[in-house]
Amino acid sequence: MGLMTSEQYIESIRAMKRNVYFMGQKIENTVDHPVLRPSMNCIIETYEMAQMPEFEDLMTAESHLIHEKVNRFSHIDMTKEDLMKKVQMQRLVGRRTGMCYQRCVTMDGGNSLYSTTYEIDQKYGTHYHENFVNWFKRVQKEDLYVCVGITDPKGDRSKSPVDQADPDLFLHVVERRPDGVVINGAKLHLTSCVNAHEIFVMPTMSLKPGAEDYAISAAIPMDDPGITLIIDHNSCDLRKIHSKEMDLGNAKYGGIEAVCVFDHVFVPNERIFLNGETEFAGILVDRFATYHRNSYGGCKPGTGDVLIGACSLLSEYIGTNKAAHIKDKLVEMTHLNETLWACGVASSAAGYQMPAGNWMIDPMLANICKLNVTRFPYEICHLAEEIAGGLLVTMPSQADFENPETGPYLRKFLQGANGVSAEDKVRALRLIETMTRGAGAVGYLTESMHGAGSPAAQKINIARYADLSGKQECAKRLANIK
Ligand code: SF4
Ligand code: FE
Repeated sequence: MGLMTSEQYIESIRAMKRNVYFMGQKIENTVDHPVLRPSMNCIIETYEMAQMPEFEDLMTAESHLIHEKVNRFSHIDMTKEDLMKKVQMQRLVGRRTGMCYQRCVTMDGGNSLYSTTYEIDQKYGTHYHENFVNWFKRVQKEDLYVCVGITDPKGDRSKSPVDQADPDLFLHVVERRPDGVVINGAKLHLTSCVNAHEIFVMPTMSLKPGAEDYAISAAIPMDDPGITLIIDHNSCDLRKIHSKEMDLGNAKYGGIEAVCVFDHVFVPNERIFLNGETEFAGILVDRFATYHRNSYGGCKPGTGDVLIGACSLLSEYIGTNKAAHIKDKLVEMTHLNETLWACGVASSAAGYQMPAGNWMIDPMLANICKLNVTRFPYEICHLAEEIAGGLLVTMPSQADFENPETGPYLRKFLQGANGVSAEDKVRALRLIETMTRGAGAVGYLTESMHGAGSPAAQKINIARYADLSGKQECAKRLANIK
């Protein structure tokens, strides 16, 4: 079939019958829902950009599996250049959406499963790699968007999966049949799953022998009757219903998270990629995290470009752009943003080839990248708030601009410098508002903190790769310590 057009993608999701709930209501039509559609628009953007000749080099790739052009979001990275183009594409798309565009998990999950299934088969003579490759060929051929379910609810975090009072607090196998398994549980924080054709699940952490039922990775269609999606209710999402376009800041694009429940979902054998090999659970999730931590070095700088641009624009609109302290803040924001980009590029450039043949991101640099991502966007938002001033939180609404009683007052008293209209000034401020504290802040801030693992997880990995004894040897040699 080749690359899907955005219309084909929209209709393919519309045709799926799923159990989706938002604010207590079952949503039959997710595609046209005002709160859900901005999230889908991000995915649509990834389909549209892949059709644009000027973006073809970054947005598409030649698949070694089906020998056709595929969307890079569902590509297996077979060269170091692929790793570079991955982050370049991510920055590009972030600059267009100004938020998390959600589709990266297909390539990050796909690449981690590609190498891990190969290694499990080498050790145990299983057929997971063949299962994965056959399934992923269809993902590429049909240009599917696959989301990833990783984070289990975890219940009592001081206890392991097998010790939980309720075993469903970690996704696990509840029944084994000759033709497959039945799974129960849930995955949390599922970005954009409502817009996905399928989901692949993987364990959330390392597992010990005895936890075989929890060592499960598999692909499941999103319209499986046993799957229920309960959409998040986040800060400012109802503005998309109650407010007008100007009040949204970024009216076109948005994000959606959800709780995804698996209630006795049957998975046939050919869709299983890990089933009981506990020692590979941690390896699999670690690889996914490494790819995704590198991804943040592409997407967040792209999103940061939009925020820096909005602040620069606003400073011109209000006549502060020549002030030394404003120039300094814009430079500081750029420095922070480009440092994230440097980490993204470096962790791709230091990548290496896996036994399966695909390329892996450098884990130390990916963790450094993500740890910076847990900090720098907050600092960039701090500076943005300083540049924006108090109007960031005291702007009246579009409806007040349209009211004949109040509109003239607002146009007069909120006007900018050099004839800049009050509306344009407010639009720049609304964009800054949504990215720093509104619905867009879920993607730019909270996700920067916790997505692909919280800072503590990155520090564990940094400690693991720190090679302190190697560094000690350097010191001992120079200090002439025998
Ligand atoms: Fe992609 Fe970034 Fe969103 Fe992750 S946070 S899905 S890397 S845009
Ligand atoms: Fe994410």
